[in-house]
Parts: sequence; C-alpha cells; structure tokens
Amino acid sequence: MTANLRVPPPLKEIAFIFNSAGKEVYLVGGAVRDLLLGRDSADWDLATNARPEEVVSLFHRVIPTGIKHGTVTIRHRGRSLEVTTFRTESAYSDGRRPDEIRYAATIEEDLSRRDFTMNAAAVKLPQGTLIDPFQGQSDIKRRLIRSVGRAEERFTEDGLRPMRAVRFAAQLGFDLEEKTLAAIPGALSTTARVAAERIREELDKTILSPRPQTGFVVMEETGLLRLILPELALCRGVEQRGRHRRDVLDHSLLACAWAAGAGFSREVRMAALFHDIGKPPVRRYDEEKGTWTFYHHERESARLAEGIMRRFRYPNALIDRVSRLVAAHMFHYEDAWKDGAVRRFIIKTGEDLLEELFALRLADTAGTAETEPDPAALLPFRKRIEAVLNRGNILSPRDLAVNGRDLLALGVKPGRTVGIILQELLEAAVDDPELNNRERLLKIAENINRRYQE
Ligand code: ATP
Ligand code: MG
Repeated sequence: MTANLRVPPPLKEIAFIFNSAGKEVYLVGGAVRDLLLGRDSADWDLATNARPEEVVSLFHRVIPTGIKHGTVTIRHRGRSLEVTTFRTESAYSDGRRPDEIRYAATIEEDLSRRDFTMNAAAVKLPQGTLIDPFQGQSDIKRRLIRSVGRAEERFTEDGLRPMRAVRFAAQLGFDLEEKTLAAIPGALSTTARVAAERIREELDKTILSPRPQTGFVVMEETGLLRLILPELALCRGVEQRGRHRRDVLDHSLLACAWAAGAGFSREVRMAALFHDIGKPPVRRYDEEKGTWTFYHHERESARLAEGIMRRFRYPNALIDRVSRLVAAHMFHYEDAWKDGAVRRFIIKTGEDLLEELFALRLADTAGTAETEPDPAALLPFRKRIEAVLNRGNILSPRDLAVNGRDLLALGVKPGRTVGIILQELLEAAVDDPELNNRERLLKIAENINRRYQE
C-alpha cells in the first residue's frame, strides 16, 4: 500500500463540500500525472459520482460549460475547476466523438475509458489515496505512454489518440510503449476523419512543447506525418549538399527544435518547421555546377505553409505572420546595401516581424551547421536597420504623395493597372524618398502608364 499523496488545501475544501452531500470526488487526468511526476499542475480536473445538476446546486459560482457532456466548471478561490460526472463511453461510429455519453457508477469504470495509463489514475479526495487500476504510476516511472486496454481498439475508437500520444511524447519526453506505437499505422484511416481543429490542438501543443522533434519523429515513424503534414513528409531524403549535411526534413526538425530550446515564439517555431517545405517541388539539378538548386523556394514554402495552416483553420493573423516569416527567410545582408534596399527589406518583412525573422535565422543556421549559431553575426544588419529606422522615411502606401484618383485623372485605365502603378511608385519612393512629391511621382506614373498602353 502506497502512502497517501499530499492534497493541496483548496482541493480538501472542495472535497468536504462533495462529501457532506454524500458524494465522492477525485482528482483525475493531467493533474494526477503531474503529481506523480512531482510537478505542479496548472489545472485541476475532478471526477465525481454527483450528477451535473447536483454539482451546480452544491456550489455558489458555477458555469455550466458542458452539461451535455457531464461537465460543470466551478470557481473556487480564484481558480476554475472542471468537474465531470463519472462517464463510460459507448460506441464511436465516426472515430471522432462518442455517439452519446452514459454515466458510470464507479471511478474505476470512468478511468477505463481514458486514453493512456498515465492519464487513467485518480486521487481520492480529501484523503489522497491513489486509485491506479492500470499501473499508470509504474509507466510514469518508466517514462512510457501506454494505451489503456488494447491499443488497436482504443485508437480506432477515437482517431485523435495517436496525436495525443505524439504530443505527450513531445511534452514529457516519454517513449511510446511498443504495442501502443505499433497500433498507430492501423488507425490512420480513423485519424484521417478527425476534425481539423482537434488535430490542430495537438499539433500546437507539440510545437509549443520543449521537444517538438520528438513528436515529429514519432509521427514520421508511424505514418502520421504523411497523413497530417504530407508536405513535410516529402522533405525526407531531399538532399541539399553544399553547407548542408542533412536532408530537408532533418534540417527543418532541427531548426524547429532549436527554436523551441531557445524559447522562441510559436510563429518562429512554425516558420522554422515550414521554411523549406517548398524545396522538394522547386528542386532542380544544375549540370554545370554539379549541385542542386532551390530557386525561389521561399515563395513556394510560404504558399505551402499558408495552405497547411488554412487546412487546420489557424487564425488569419497567425497565418499571415508565419507565411511572411517564411517568405522573408532568405535575406543576405551586405554592408554595400543602399539605404533604399534596407528600407525595402523592412517594409517587405514588416517592422513587427524583424525580431522574429532574426530568431528564425538563428534557428535556420542551427539546423544547418554543426556549431551553435552566433547572434553577433546579425549585429551589423541590426545596427543598420536601427539607423535607417531612426532616419524615418519608412513609407507605407498611405504616405505616398499620390493616390489612385490622381492616377485615374492622369488617364490610367481603371482596374488592376492602378494598383500595379501605385506599387511601383511606392518602391521608387522607398528607394529614393526625394521622389515622394506629387509632381515627380505623376511624371513617373505617366511613363509607366505609357508602357502599359503599348
Ligand atoms: P494537459 O496537461 O494537456 O491538460 P491532460 O492529460 O489533462 O493534459 P486533457 O486533454 O486536459 O489532457 O484531458 C484530460 C483527461 O481526459 C486526460 O488525462 C485523459 O484521462 C482524458 N482524455 C482526454 N482526451 C481523451 C481522449 N481523446 N480519449 C480518452 N481519454 C481522454
Ligand atoms: Mg487537462
């Protein structure tokens, strides 16, 4: 018999409320896993034999978050706790969600519907007795992710579980137990039917974990990568030579891993993962040089990255930032750049993304070289950018001394040409701010317009 676990006082208080109504309550899920790992847990999930309506009646501050699913959120001492009535799950006809929920009588039955042994232990409150019917504690000690019951069945019941295994591997640095790992390929057709948003949640947690590469390696090994991110899977075996020793996939994973290790933002990690996915489609062999070329791969990478993020319904603002980073990753600064070139670079990247673009460069370098990247290598460019920014003159389309109406008055044909000419004028004015006055711009516009009329 193991000693009882230490139960934090707020949980004891909550337990007394349940007990005084004759109900049982248990700490379950990730919080128990964290407790057994000796870590603090951010959120506490509880399981009880009280029905949702009873839970609502027991507490003053409750939010009926998911009564249909048997879940109620209670507020206690500034925290939110999810309380779910013991459940058992019936058939999953679509591999996505159980068809209906049914309440279970005991905590053991509730635990048996859970995905992995490390997530299927409970702590009885307020005593702190561990209920561990599937030896979760021993798997946690051995750092193993093991399905509760037969992995094949559990994965074909809910095709999200393989992706959950992947993200737990990345978050915890655990291995997948042999049979659990071996059951993933057979469940791919079920995973293929899971809603994009649910997959995205697990992808996100993998990318934001301390070791995203651990998750992606499992994904590749099991066929999940080809299913979920085929563009990335195609980077396997794409040799590059030159400075690169690794193929495009290993390079991308290493860049992403390094970005995670450095604590860089989600955008930088995603851009590191996707920055070279355009390489396989644009790769050509240059007979003369005897090497592979990847001309304009950054554009193709940005296009593919955007497609992936749309597929998973990422928010537009994030899609925009990641694809801009990917599109801008190939800059090669030299001191000989004119101020105009520096300004064009700033405008193209967006002032808001400069820091992250430099972070991406460090990750990219780390993914290529055998040695740690040196942030000092970017200093001359940073200083130059700072100097150019201090001088002002960073024009946006709004700052241009002429607008579309001026062009129409000049006789430019309404339609696309107007936009194209405005863009050319902006580039000219960015190159040479002296040009940004009405008279000079209109003269340039006339010249461009003549070209379009020929
Ligand atoms: P996190 O730290 O990310 O919150 P967690 O283990 O609490 O990790 P949740 O997604 O919050 O994960 O789920 C809570 C618990 O619900 C899990 O520990 C597991 O017992 C159970 N669970 C969640 N999703 C599934 C699923 N798809 N199949 C079976 N059980 C699941
Ligand atoms: Mg949780």
